[in-house]
Amino acid sequence: MSNDPSVPPTSPDSEWKISTRAVSHGRPAPDPGAPVNESITLSSTFHAGGTLDYGRVGNPTWTALESTLADLESTQSALCFPSGVAAISAVLDLVPVGGVVVAPAHPYSGTRGLLNERQSAGRFTVREYQPSPTADISAELHGADLLWIETPSNPLLEISDIAGLSQQAHAAGALVAIDATFITPYIAQPINFGVDLVVHSVTKFLAGHSDVIMGSVATNSDELATKLHTIRTLGGAIVGPFEAFLALRGIRTLGVRMDRSIANAQTIAERLLTLPVVEKVRYPGLSSHPGHDLAMATTGAGAVVCFEVHSADQAEAIAESTRLWTHATSLGGVESLIERRARWPFEHPDVPSNLIRLSVGIEDVDDLWNDLYQAISAHS
Ligand SMILES: *Cc1c(COP(=O)(O)O)cnc(C)c1O
Repeated sequence: MSNDPSVPPTSPDSEWKISTRAVSHGRPAPDPGAPVNESITLSSTFHAGGTLDYGRVGNPTWTALESTLADLESTQSALCFPSGVAAISAVLDLVPVGGVVVAPAHPYSGTRGLLNERQSAGRFTVREYQPSPTADISAELHGADLLWIETPSNPLLEISDIAGLSQQAHAAGALVAIDATFITPYIAQPINFGVDLVVHSVTKFLAGHSDVIMGSVATNSDELATKLHTIRTLGGAIVGPFEAFLALRGIRTLGVRMDRSIANAQTIAERLLTLPVVEKVRYPGLSSHPGHDLAMATTGAGAVVCFEVHSADQAEAIAESTRLWTHATSLGGVESLIERRARWPFEHPDVPSNLIRLSVGIEDVDDLWNDLYQAISAHS
C-alpha cells in the first residue's frame, strides 16, 4: 500500500477509519433509486423460504445496526438488546448454574443490582475485585467462569488494564466481558485487548441523543453469538425497529460527538481544579488521576467528569442551579447532564455523597463552563 495520502488504497473499506465506517456502513445497496438509509421494517413476519422468518428472531433494521456495530468493534457479530442491562443480563445468562463471576467492587449500579440479585437467588457466586491499573486478581479468578471489566467505571472512573486482566482470566479458563459504554469503538476496540464479549449501553454515547434505550453485545465467537441469539429469541426481549433506526442514525455522528465531548470534558476538568470549593476532581484525562497513563494509552479519558464539593447539600444545590446543564441522570447524549450520584439509594456506599457526575456534551465549552461556574459560585 502506498504511503502517499493522495493515492487511495486499493481496498478502501478495510482501511477506512472508524468515523468513516460509522457513516458508511449499514446502508442499502447503492442501486439506482434505492434509499440511502435502511428503512424501518415494521413487519412481524416474513414470506417463507428466505433468511428472515419471524420478527422476534430477526429484522432488516436490526441487521443494518448490528452489522455496523460489529464492523466498528472489529468483531464477527453484534447483537442488540432492548437496554444496556438486558445486554448485561444476557451475558450473565452464559454463566453456568452454580458458576463464579468475578466483578469489580464498583460497577455501574444496574450491573451490581443484577449480580446481587442473581447471587441471592443462588444462580451464581460473585467475587469482587478492587480495580486498579496494576490489579493482580489471579486468586479471585481461580475456578471462575466469567470476568467482568468496566473501565473507566461509572461513576468512580476507576481504570483497569483490559489486556492484563484478560490474560489473567484466560489463564484461569474464564470468559471475559467488558462494559465498554464509556469507551465507544471510536476510541478503542476492546476485542483487540483480548476480551471475549464487548457490552454497551447503546443508550449512551453510541446512540448519543438521549432518545432511545438500547444495549449490545459484540463477539468474535460464533458459539457465544449463537448462545446469545438463542437467549434473546427465547427470552423474547427484543429491540423495536424504530429504536434500531434511531440508534443507527445516532452512530453516524459518533466521531464528531466523541471528539467534541472529550475535548470539552478535559477543559471542564482542568478548570474545576482551579476552584477552591472543589475538593477533588476525578477525570482520567488529568495527570493527577491514578489511571491517567494507562487510560491515555488504551481507552482514552472519556466524557464523564466527577468532582466533589464540601457537602451533599452543596452538591445538590449546585446540580439544581444550572441553566444549561440539565439536572438529570444518564450520560452520553449531545446535551450536558449533571447529577449528585448518591441521591440514588441503590448507588454504592463507596460513592461519596458530595460527588457530582457530569456528562459533558457537545455545547460550546465556555457556555458550559460559565453556567457551571455561576452554579458553583452561588453555593460557595
Ligand atoms: C447506563 C449504563 C448501563 C445500563 O444501560 P441501560 O441502557 O440504561 O440499560 C450499563 N453500563 C453503564 C456503564 C451505563 O452507564
